[in-house]
Amino acid sequence: MNVLRDYIKSLFLLELWKGLSITGRYLFRKKFTVQYPEEKAPMSPRFRGVHALRRYPNGEERCIACKLCEATCPALAITIEAEPRADGSRRTTRYDIDLFKCIYCGYCQEACPVDAIVETRIYEYSFENRQDAVLTKEKLLEIGDKCEAQLAADIAAQANYR
Ligand code: SF4
Ligand code: SF4
Repeated sequence: MNVLRDYIKSLFLLELWKGLSITGRYLFRKKFTVQYPEEKAPMSPRFRGVHALRRYPNGEERCIACKLCEATCPALAITIEAEPRADGSRRTTRYDIDLFKCIYCGYCQEACPVDAIVETRIYEYSFENRQDAVLTKEKLLEIGDKCEAQLAADIAAQANYR
């Protein structure tokens, strides 16, 4: 019986027509593909792109060098060194993220008690030298300064998911 059924199926090309019917159904539907890079796909506020360090509105660094992000990073991608300032506050003297090690898990962002280390929506980046893959504190703060408006909006939106 199965042999007969398979014979009829192959004789009338039923599998082919079945496949073509799906193609035909989607031919006139709204397209999911976009003309990248001219067009961009919608992005979640929880997107985990390249990192940034944020500041408070008065320009002070948010990071208090608690090293929770360093401790929680499963890839050991974060290196922090810290010293107390003259005013007694504790700040980092070195904050490096090795993007070759990073797996973009977002644990550092989750661990940070002051929303200092965050992941941005930036995903289009490349390196010409190996050392460029290490994001230094200066670079991270620079990215944070550039993206602050978007970061603040995304963090506010993420609060709704919790
Ligand atoms: S995203 Fe994950 S792997 Fe990358 S630095 Fe943060 S904790 Fe480490
Ligand atoms: S970025 Fe956040 S978690 Fe990491 S050392 Fe600074 S304050 Fe602590």
